[in-house]
Amino acid sequence: MKRSIYLDNAATTKTAPEVVEAMLPYFTEFYGNPSSVYEFASKSKAAVSENRDIIASALGAKDKEIYFTAGGSESDNWAIKAAAEAYESKGKHIITSKIEHHAVLHTCEYLEKKGFEVTYLDVDEDGAVKLDELRKAIRPDTILITIMYANNEIGTIQPIKEIGEIAHENKILFHTDAVQAFGQIPINVDECHIDMLSASGHKLNGPKGIGFLYIRTGVKIRSFIHGGGQERSRRAGTENVPGIVGFGEAVKRAVSTMEERAAKEIELRDHLIEKVLAEVPYVRLNGHRTNRLPNNVNFSFRFVEGESLLIMMDMKGISASSGSACTSGSLDPSHVLLAIGLPHEIAHGSLRLTLCEENTVEEMDFVAEAAKEIVGKLRNMSPLYEDFVKRAAAK
Ligand SMILES: *Cc1c(COP(=O)(O)O)cnc(C)c1O
Repeated sequence: MKRSIYLDNAATTKTAPEVVEAMLPYFTEFYGNPSSVYEFASKSKAAVSENRDIIASALGAKDKEIYFTAGGSESDNWAIKAAAEAYESKGKHIITSKIEHHAVLHTCEYLEKKGFEVTYLDVDEDGAVKLDELRKAIRPDTILITIMYANNEIGTIQPIKEIGEIAHENKILFHTDAVQAFGQIPINVDECHIDMLSASGHKLNGPKGIGFLYIRTGVKIRSFIHGGGQERSRRAGTENVPGIVGFGEAVKRAVSTMEERAAKEIELRDHLIEKVLAEVPYVRLNGHRTNRLPNNVNFSFRFVEGESLLIMMDMKGISASSGSACTSGSLDPSHVLLAIGLPHEIAHGSLRLTLCEENTVEEMDFVAEAAKEIVGKLRNMSPLYEDFVKRAAAK
C-alpha cells in the first residue's frame, strides 16, 4: 500500500475529532441565532461567549477584545485597513517586513495605491527583522507597525517583545499576524505590547472559515463589515456558531497540549533536519536553526527544481510544499526566500515540510531517504549539476 504522509500543516491542519464532535450539536440541535431573544437561542449565545472567553484567556486578553472573523486573511485585512483609516489624520506611514504573508503584503500594497507610504523592512539571513532598522524606519507620521509573529514558510520566530516595546515607546500601533504562532508557542498580548493580533482556526486543528482579530481596548479602529450589531458592532454578520465552538475547542486543546506537543515536534523536526543535512550534499536549511516553529522544516537543494521535487515526493505519498500554498503553482520564487538573500536558482529548489505531533521518527527517516533519492535523480538530469561536477573535478 502506498503510504500517505501529510507534511503541510502550515497550509492547513486536520480538524481534531474532538473539535468536530464539539461542533456537531451547534448545526443540528442548538442552531438558534445568538441575536434572537427567545430561550431556544440562549444556548448558541452562551456558546459564543464561553468560547470567546477561552480564546481571550489563551492570549492574556479580555473577552471583549476578541472579534470573530472568517479567518486569518480577513483579520489581517481588517487590522491594517481599518487602522490606516482610523489613524490617517495622524499620518500615512506604515512599517512592515518583506517576509509577511500575502494577506498583509497585498493589503499594504493596496493602501499604497490609496496614498499611504509603506516601508518593507529587510530581514537577516535567518529571516528575523533587524531591530535597529525598525527604529530607523520610524517617522513622526508612522501610524502602524505590522510584523508577523512567526513566518509561515521558514518558521523563524520574530523578536516580538522587542518590536512591541519599540512600537509602544513610540506610541505606534502594533499589529501581528500570529496565524502560524497561535496555539504553537505561548503568546501574551500584554507582555509583548501587542495592540492587534490575527489568528485562524484551521491552522491549529480547528475548522476552516473562522478566525479572530484581537483588538486592545482603547484602539480606535473602524468596523470592517457594516450591518448588524454583532461583535460589538465592529464586524456584522450572524456569528459562525459551530465554527466558534470548534475554534474554542481547538484552542483549549492546543493550550493544554502545547508543551508536550512542541517537545515531540521539535524532536521530529531536528531528526529530519539532521538526517537531511548529513545525507544530502549541497543543501541548506532555511530559517533560524533553533528559534523556529516546532514543526517547521525548510530546505533549499541546489541544482533542483522545487516543483519537480514536490511532484516526485507526492508520488511517494508525501504531501509537502515549495513555499506558501498561495504561491505554489506560480513560477516566481518565494518572496521570503529571496528576502533572506537566496539567489533565484537556489530559492527555486526549496521544500517546506511542516509536521504535526502524530508524525513518527520512522516517517521522518522515510522522508529523508525519499528526499535523498529524488534530489539525486533530479541532479542526474540537470545540465547545471553536470557542469558543476565537471568543473569541480577539473580543479
Ligand atoms: C494561513 C495564513 C494566513 C491566512 O489565514 P486564512 O485563515 O487561511 O485566511 C495568514 N497569515 C499567515 C501567516 C498564515 O499562515
